[in-house]
Amino acid sequence: MEKTFIMVKPDGVQRGLIGEIISRFEQKGFRLEGGKLMNVSRELAEKHYAEHKDKPFFGELVDFITSGPVFAMVWAGEDVIATARRMMGQTKPSEAAPGTVRGDYGLTVGKNIVHGSDSPESAKREIALWFEEKEISSYEKAIESWVY
Ligand code: UDP
Repeated sequence: MEKTFIMVKPDGVQRGLIGEIISRFEQKGFRLEGGKLMNVSRELAEKHYAEHKDKPFFGELVDFITSGPVFAMVWAGEDVIATARRMMGQTKPSEAAPGTVRGDYGLTVGKNIVHGSDSPESAKREIALWFEEKEISSYEKAIESWVY
C-alpha cells in the first residue's frame, strides 16, 4: 500500500487542528501508520526543505517550522500521496479550494497549516527522514474490506 508523510505545521498545532486533519484522512479511508508530536531541529528542517535552500523564503520557512511543535504522521492507502495533496489544497491558501485543509483554514502561504509529500520519491525520503522503522505500524483495519 502506498504511504505518504503528512505534517501538521506549528500553526496547525497552535490552532487546534491536529484532530480535524486526522479526522479528514481517517474518514476518507486512509490508515494512520505513525504519528508523533515533536519539536523540529534546524538540521531536520533544513534537510526536509533542502530543495528550497536557495529560495528567498528558506530562512523564514526554517524559522517557522522550528518555532513550535509539529505533528508528524505516516498515512497509507491507495493513491494516498496525490489524494492527500488534493485534500490539503494549493500551496497558497488564497488559491486552495474550499473543502481543502488550506482552503478552509489558511490565509497565507507562510502559515498554510499542513505539509504533504508531493511524489513517491519525496514520500520515501521524508518518511525515512522523520520516522524510525520501529515507529511505523503496518497493519490492516477490518473496515478496509468496505473501503477497497
Ligand atoms: N513557502 C513560503 N513562501 C513561498 C512559497 C512557499 O513560505 O513563496 C512555504 C510554504 O509554507 C510551503 C513550503 O514553503 O508549504 C514548501 O513549498 P512547496 O512549494 O514545496 O509547497 P507545498 O509542497 O508545501 O505545497
